[in-house]
Amino acid sequence: MNDSIFHTDTIERLTALLHSPRNIIITTHHKPDGDALGSSLGLMHVLRQCGHRVQVILPSEFPGFLNWMSGSGDAVDFIRESSKGTKAMNDAELLFCLDFNDPARVEALEGVLRKSSATKILIDHHLDPKTEDFNLSISLPSQASTSEIIVHLVCHLGLDGFLHRDAAECLYAGIMTDTGSFRFNSVTSSTHRAVARLMDAGVRNDWVFERIYDHNSENRIRFMGYTLLEKMKVIPEFSTVVMTASQDDMDRFGHAPGDLEGIVNYGLSITGMKLSVFFSQRDGLVKISFRSKGAFSVKEIAEKYFHGGGHRNAAGGRSNTDLDSAVQTFIDLLPNYESELRPDAR
Ligand code: 5GP
Ligand code: MN
Repeated sequence: MNDSIFHTDTIERLTALLHSPRNIIITTHHKPDGDALGSSLGLMHVLRQCGHRVQVILPSEFPGFLNWMSGSGDAVDFIRESSKGTKAMNDAELLFCLDFNDPARVEALEGVLRKSSATKILIDHHLDPKTEDFNLSISLPSQASTSEIIVHLVCHLGLDGFLHRDAAECLYAGIMTDTGSFRFNSVTSSTHRAVARLMDAGVRNDWVFERIYDHNSENRIRFMGYTLLEKMKVIPEFSTVVMTASQDDMDRFGHAPGDLEGIVNYGLSITGMKLSVFFSQRDGLVKISFRSKGAFSVKEIAEKYFHGGGHRNAAGGRSNTDLDSAVQTFIDLLPNYESELRPDAR
């Protein structure tokens, strides 16, 4: 395992904090994805095996395609069970904050998180963490996923004997989804060492893959087909693809949270495309997913113009305008990036 990623005093402080049984809450970002939920549940299982009392509290519900994860049924959805969540947060001694870099990313849970007197431990791989809001920060943007960090951390803490299949499959799914099935340039030999450790713990890799990628509803596939056929615009002069889903589209196809997760990646699979953006309208808000290839960074566009952020090649944001205006605002920005996006740019 890579010996250099954790500071010795971080490991010492964590070891001391976990020395005796603790009341622990694990939380993650709003609209948890595979890495957010997988890292939270994976850590939960390991810490429970060590004798701690551990509860996962999510700021909002997770998408249905992750409901096979062991322990997902016990996770508190703060939107639905806010008094239970608030009480549990207030009783916590340790609060692990996974896969986000800023307390604002937990949305409805932010006030309770800020007020909590628990020792707050950040474990994350996003750039620019607000470390001043946490008592202990493990911020490793070089890591492909938070789940990968958890695997290395568990091993460094000498807790890998407590890493059983349930935890390992949650963590494997987190690494798999955040790396586009081990294909992004964020993947390193260290990622594969973490995966090897998980396989040793009994991960059924084909089973996990099937649960995530081969559990589409018929509606989801039809919705994707409709969106790709009718709602995808290719802008070759800027190597860009734009897709949209309006509230009417969502209603027509009986949209469920997460139904169009991943569709934005299809844009990047068209030869020569460097930027793909998906706009979806929901509850009076337009949610935007950005994906890019290579050196072109979507993080800045998401931050600067769409109240969001993320990573260089995957970011998200939102707009309070209507769908068409949000798309137009984005298209009007493209000429600013012409030197990077034109087809012959390198
Ligand atoms: P997605 O398009 O899958 O919703 O988000 C892609 C990535 O962008 C996520 O992994 C997350 O890191 C980041 N992201 C999404 N939405 C936001 C947001 O509103 N604020 C920030 N800071 N990051 C976001
Ligand atoms: Mn992540």
